[in-house]
Amino acid sequence: MSPRDEDRYRYTWLDLERVKPSQVRVGDLVAHAGPPGSGRFCVDPVTFVGWAGQFALWGVDEWRVEYRTPWGVRCFVNPDRLPVYRLRRDLMARIRAAFHDPDGSRYGIPTFWWRGAPAGFATRRQLRDAGLRPGGQSVAAQVMWAGIGGVRVAYLYRIDLARPKRVASPRQRQAISRALRARRICPSCRVERPYYIPRSLGECLDCADVSAG
Ligand SMILES: [Zn+2]
Repeated sequence: MSPRDEDRYRYTWLDLERVKPSQVRVGDLVAHAGPPGSGRFCVDPVTFVGWAGQFALWGVDEWRVEYRTPWGVRCFVNPDRLPVYRLRRDLMARIRAAFHDPDGSRYGIPTFWWRGAPAGFATRRQLRDAGLRPGGQSVAAQVMWAGIGGVRVAYLYRIDLARPKRVASPRQRQAISRALRARRICPSCRVERPYYIPRSLGECLDCADVSAG
């Protein structure tokens, strides 16, 4: 993404249209609340639109719009609580075109718009879910889309070059769990905590509280 393109797609609320959830389709970009406390809104691709049936308690039909947030979580928009906005169609078409570079002449590697990637590619997470790992291959392609926070990229790997995930032996697993347990033991009070001791404090939250007070 060149800086010029980023300027071009720094869109505003005028670029969003308020829509009914039934008008939203997979691949649309919808606006939703950003990370808790950020006070910002994001625009992300819709990954699922469905009808969840009757919500028994209130007796209303509940549509669900699922999107994947930039911090990697799948969330649902509940249209009863949250207005649903879609990026205006004309702008979406322009963004799609800007991110369509299947031979990589513009971005260096094959680039596709969201949902536009051909079969045979997978993200690192998708490979992991399938019991595979990239296996030393470099990034083969990328998927790009525009969000209010800027342009986002997901890297793709070739499935045919992926290798089976290495499985840890019982001894290795033991060593790993010992190491993780050690990270939960506070060096000051020697108590094992249910959380990892924050590196910034160097001790558990209780101890850090005491020394602060
Ligand atoms: Zn402690």
